[in-house]
Amino acid sequence: MLLKNNVENIKKLVKNDNVLTALEERYCYAQDSLNTKEKPHLPDIAIFVESAAEVQKILIFANKHKIPVVCRGAGTNMVGACTCPQGGIVLNFSKMNKILDFNAENMTMRVEPGVVLDDIKKLAETENLFYPPDPSNYKVSTIGGSIAQSSGGAMSFKYGTTKDYILSLTVILADGTLLKLGAGTIKDAVGYHLNQLIMGSEGTLAVVVEAELKLIPKPEAKRTIVGYFDNFDSAIEGVNNIVKERVFPATIDFMDNNSLRTVEQFSHCGLQTDKEALLIIDIDGFETSLDTQQDRIEKSLQKAGAASTGVVGEEIWTARRASFAATAQLAPDVVSDDIIVPRTSLAQMINGCKNICNKYGLQVCIVGHVGDGNIHPQIALNLENDDEFKNYIKAKSEMYEMALALGGTISSEHGVGISKISYIENTLDEQALEYMKQIKKLFDPNNILNPGKIFKI
Ligand SMILES: Cc1cc2nc3c(=O)[nH]c(=O)nc-3n(C[C@H](O)[C@H](O)[C@H](O)COP(=O)(O)OP(=O)(O)OC[C@H]3O[C@@H](n4cnc5c(N)ncnc54)[C@H](O)[C@@H]3O)c2cc1C
Repeated sequence: MLLKNNVENIKKLVKNDNVLTALEERYCYAQDSLNTKEKPHLPDIAIFVESAAEVQKILIFANKHKIPVVCRGAGTNMVGACTCPQGGIVLNFSKMNKILDFNAENMTMRVEPGVVLDDIKKLAETENLFYPPDPSNYKVSTIGGSIAQSSGGAMSFKYGTTKDYILSLTVILADGTLLKLGAGTIKDAVGYHLNQLIMGSEGTLAVVVEAELKLIPKPEAKRTIVGYFDNFDSAIEGVNNIVKERVFPATIDFMDNNSLRTVEQFSHCGLQTDKEALLIIDIDGFETSLDTQQDRIEKSLQKAGAASTGVVGEEIWTARRASFAATAQLAPDVVSDDIIVPRTSLAQMINGCKNICNKYGLQVCIVGHVGDGNIHPQIALNLENDDEFKNYIKAKSEMYEMALALGGTISSEHGVGISKISYIENTLDEQALEYMKQIKKLFDPNNILNPGKIFKI
């Protein structure tokens, strides 16, 4: 708990209406999108920051008094990355949401950390440009949070993840030092790429106050193809057939039968609920190329035994993106996981997840960006039911063990936060983990930035 005079001194650093200290206001910051059994951890104070200079002042004060500082974008990460187990200060970036520069000729955009991804995408499109990273909730999540989690999304298969679109960053270290990282040019081979180190660091190394983004030309046309399958081994064979054909779709996404039924039950969007699996494949490029791509993809799916294939509208993505919310209606809680394996082991991993969840009596809806080998088992349960909770923990460990045994890893885009912290030692090379801890100490010797996340020090 912060000392009263510390709270009073912090209030002097920023505008008075930007500081929240009432219990009910702080309660809003007790959780993010991780459903957890842990009791809510409230910050002592939440601050709407408005400028880099304010962030600097707060960090200098916090570092001097060893007060934890946790950054918060939209609070949509799935791993408890912006909760406050040690109290302290939450920095809310929703007022640092300005697009500072949009240079269509250089295809770059300079933004503050609180800008919502959808705003970046929409502005880029006005000049026929494209910012591809698309976590399923891109309509609300922020660029600061996406940089800190190195977010991916359905389009990673063709276009990569957030880290591939960051040209430079301005960050503030725990002691208030402002660093400009990267050159802002398309290529940069000068020195260590410290900006890449910030990507995925979950707010534990530095606070991002500005980012310069790379944009690419917007593909002229796009089409969405679906393939329904009577079993998911065939669906995965379909994915592998597409890859063998050397067509390069923007997305190859997946919904299993439980997801199809659950989304249909709540959204009535016309999904074929009698099928075991659905693949959603976006193709893009020149209009004249789409027919050829579509033909090759449909043939690849049919060769794998697709029950039906066809072209659909954007509403299929609305359905796919609703899967987490729909699963949340099956039980009091839902926990979405994030596992990745080499694509050749995908069928085994999906079957494994289903078998493990069945063994422990857990309801699971599996969706995923299967082109990447990435699946999201969404488990609906009651965390207050002790037996169910124990079974969930066992299932989660077994799924992670399986992913590692198959040459994959325990997170591909959601990060570690608090939810995977106890599995990190089994996942990372021992020496590499030690180096990460040394890097953390170098950047943040007093461990004030998002303490207790990713690994214990
Ligand atoms: C329904 C749903 C679907 C999702 N789908 C996907 C998906 O397909 N792919 C994917 O990758 N993720 C997905 N996510 C997770 C989520 O979208 C990403 O983690 C997201 O981009 C986080 O953005 P945010 O603004 O909510 O960040 P927050 O959750 O607020 O914060 C995330 C992390 O960033 C840190 N942070 C925030 N701002 C800053 C800053 N300025 N400087 C330093 N650190 C900062 C926080 O401390 C925290 O560690 C999904 C989440 C939901 C709820």
